[in-house]
Amino acid sequence: MQITPIPCLSDNYAYLVVDDATGTAAIVDPSEDAPVRAAVDARGITPRDIWCTHHHHDHVGGNEAIAEHYGTAVLGHVSDKGRIPAQTKEVATGDTFTLGSLAVSVIHIPGHTLGAVAYVVKDEASGEQAVFTGDTMFLGGCGRLFEGTPAQMNTSFEALMALDPKTKVYCGHEYTASNLRFAKHVEPSNEAIDVAVARTTELRASGKPTVPGTLAEERATNPFVRIDSAEIRKTLGIAADASGGEALGAIRKAKDDFK
Ligand code: ZN
Ligand code: FE
Repeated sequence: MQITPIPCLSDNYAYLVVDDATGTAAIVDPSEDAPVRAAVDARGITPRDIWCTHHHHDHVGGNEAIAEHYGTAVLGHVSDKGRIPAQTKEVATGDTFTLGSLAVSVIHIPGHTLGAVAYVVKDEASGEQAVFTGDTMFLGGCGRLFEGTPAQMNTSFEALMALDPKTKVYCGHEYTASNLRFAKHVEPSNEAIDVAVARTTELRASGKPTVPGTLAEERATNPFVRIDSAEIRKTLGIAADASGGEALGAIRKAKDDFK
């Protein structure tokens, strides 16, 4: 499988997913029409699907033009019907389908929005697996809680972290550098964050995306995964017996206020 990030707007990523075996292709979160069509046309392919992680405009802004131009199906969560432009298919947790030789499954991950979904793509031939997390899980961070509760976001993170740790993470925005700055602030002794910062600095200095990361790296660095860290709880004054949802809510609040 080939996954190509397509930079859109100021810091969004759309993605082009191509199954090498059959040439079957999907676009994830086309923020806007022009850069996505340029990337698709450069490959000379016709995408079969658009996979939407959630209804926000900076993820679906290109849906209508792209769907009309290529005759593309548009997938989004069943609860997002009416909010995702040009949606033709409703998906929910447990849904599975194929993209050529690739196996795709859907997980509902509410929190950033109530209809947020992740698409998990497995290439049986190479053993590679990828997850598209939209604005729910970022590298080193999580999205703002516009519609869901901290407890929902925590449950969604648990669902993502239950996947194989080698799974590559493709998220909706290039926020990694600022996320890691906050991660280090709340967990200063975590050396895995230093490694991630060095990697991020080098990639960004040469104009490259930080995606993909891996779930193993998120386990080691992301404060919204590391809600049980004694150091994070101490830094932010979160009680040792606070629930996962309470801890995530406190960390999210601290991130909202962090300059
Ligand atoms: Zn969003
Ligand atoms: Fe977004």
